Order: sequence, then C-alpha cells, then structure tokens
Amino acid sequence: MNRFLRGDTDRLSRDIEQERSLRIAAEREVARLTAGLDAVPTGIVLADGTGRIVLRNRAAAVGGHSDVLIDEAVQRLLSAAAVGKAGEQRLELFGPPPRVLLIHCIPLANSGALAIIDDLSERVRLDAVRTDFVANISHELKTPVGALAVLAEALTDSDDADVNRSLASRMVEEAHRASSTIDDLLELSRIELGGRGEPEDVSLAAVLGEVAARHRFTAETAGVGLEFGSTDRQTLVGDRLQLVSAVSNLVDNAIKYTNPGGTVRVRCTTNDKWVEIEVCDDGVGIPARDLDRVFERFYRVDRARSRATGGTGLGLAIVRHVATNHGGEVAVRSREGEGSTFTLRIPVQEVA
Ligand code: ADP
Repeated sequence: MNRFLRGDTDRLSRDIEQERSLRIAAEREVARLTAGLDAVPTGIVLADGTGRIVLRNRAAAVGGHSDVLIDEAVQRLLSAAAVGKAGEQRLELFGPPPRVLLIHCIPLANSGALAIIDDLSERVRLDAVRTDFVANISHELKTPVGALAVLAEALTDSDDADVNRSLASRMVEEAHRASSTIDDLLELSRIELGGRGEPEDVSLAAVLGEVAARHRFTAETAGVGLEFGSTDRQTLVGDRLQLVSAVSNLVDNAIKYTNPGGTVRVRCTTNDKWVEIEVCDDGVGIPARDLDRVFERFYRVDRARSRATGGTGLGLAIVRHVATNHGGEVAVRSREGEGSTFTLRIPVQEVA
C-alpha cells in the first residue's frame, strides 16, 4: 500500500475510534440522566422545537384511563411553550382514585419545552382532612363551652340554693366533657404525630393488668361484669403506653355500651406472628351500616348515648392509630342488640 494511503487509513481509524468513544460516553451520560430523571417523583416531559415529545420520565409515563386527559393537557401546554408561551393548568381527575395535578410548562433557552407535572393529591387530601378536623374540633368544644356560658349566666341570676347546686353540678359535667375531648385530642395527636415511640419488650400481662385496674370501678358502678382471660404469651414488641391506651379505649366503650347485668370479656390469643386482643361485650351492638365508619374521628352511632356516657367520638380513632403504628390492625364484628367484638391484632415482632 502506498505510504500516503496508509497514513489516511490510520487517521480514519483513529477518527472512527474517537467517534465511537464519544458516542459511548454520550450514551452513558444520557442513560445516567434518564435514570436520574426516573428517580424524581415529579413527572417531567421534554419536547423539541416543534412541540413533539422526545422524553418523559417514569413518573410521567402514559398508561391508565385518566392519563389520556393528562397527556392532552401536557401536549397542548408543550406546543404553546415550544413557541415561547409558558403556561400552567390544574387538573382534577375524579378517579378512582381521585387525583389533583398541577402541570407547568416553560420554553427552553435553545429551543424545545419542558413540562413539570406535580401530583398534589396527597397534599389536597391532607388539607381537606385538616379543615374537616378543625371544623369538628370547633363544634365539639363549642357545645360544652356554650353550655358552660349559659349555666354560668343562670347561676349569676339565681338566688335559690337548690337551683344553684344543680346548675353548678351541670357546670362540672360540661367542664369534664370539654376536658375529656381535649385530653383525647392531645392523645390522638401525640399518637399521630409521634408515630410509635421507642419499641420495647412489653409485658402483655402488665398491659391487661393496667387496663383491668383502670376499669374495674367503672364496670362495677355500671353493673357490668368485667372478665380477663389468661395469656400464654409473655411479651410483644411495642409502645406500652399506646397499647394500654388502645385496649383501655376498647374496654371503656364495651362497658359504656353494655346495659347493667351484661358482661365484658377480654381474651388474648397468640401465635408465632400475632397477638390478638379481643374485647367482647353483650351490649347494644352496632348497626351494620355504621360498622365501616366507627373508626373515623368524631363518628358516633348514637349521639345522645355517647353524650350521656361522656363519649368524645375519638376513642376508636386512637385505637386504629395505635394498631397502624404497630404494623397491626383493628377489626369489629357486631350485631345490633346482641353485642360487639373488637379485635386488636399486633405483630409479635417489630415489622421491618
Ligand atoms: P365514643 O367516645 O363516642 O364512644 P368512639 O370513637 O370510642 O367514640 O366510638 C365511636 C362510636 O362507635 C361510639 O359513639 C358508639 O356509637 C360506637 N361503639 C364503639 N364501641 C362500641 C361498643 N362496644 N358497642 C356499641 N357501640 C360501640
């Protein structure tokens, strides 16, 4: 081969080799960038200068029914952004599950456009729960505080000692009602915000013993029998105070919603994985239509009865939170007029 020709061939192979390395490096960069974009929980869509979509990360992947609506909105905003017009749109999709998205599109400096899809669903849901909660608290506290004001006014105007005594005792009742609601609210928010405290080995017998000691007197006063079965298991991993609070709320309810002469039984069964604490009563029971809702905050089946027994409507919400914090659950079986059984199921070991 001629000397000059060999020189050209060598240069050509070097160029090809260099181009190959550059291409591999570029492909690696693109792969790294794509992996990075895929790890971002926000949806990201990139369009070229004509508004044609050239890249979308995993969070913006198309699929599912409502995604057609999202894609239409993204495409429209990207086409506008590709010719220099930024814009945004809030999309409310009724689901299921319901979703709220905010799509934001901007033109890119050297042609093309970028769409960012923010999923606001959880934030919107929490806002609604919070607003609802505040409205409920205001209502729950307004009732006893309003009653206190009326009773205090009546007391100011009355000179009759008997009337005054009766007004004063009703004021004490209302003050207790407000204070129970505040106590339960504090307990609920402590459990909700704090999650589960430091896990420790909790003695089951100690939990049941503490619950028994708390409720023996109330049960006796109400004429309701209170029986505790034995437990074969010694300990479980959890938060002792929360577990006492949960079982205590279940026993408190069982006594409250059982007529004199009835019996409340607390049974504890265990296996390798679970501890099940069952609180069973032969009281008024819960209508089938209310069973799904009794764990909601402030939900009561019979407002009058709950008020008469000093209920706050927060007890079962507390129980459910304790169960969730421990990786467990709470369930109810009940028949109106026959009684109810609440089962608190807690894993023996800590859930990883
Ligand atoms: P409350 O403070 O009103 O008892 P809870 O959250 O503890 O609130 O319970 C919610 C509602 O569930 C109660 O108002 C009551 O109607 C019903 N309930 C709970 N436990 C029982 C039970 N053992 N028997 C019958 N009804 C119950």
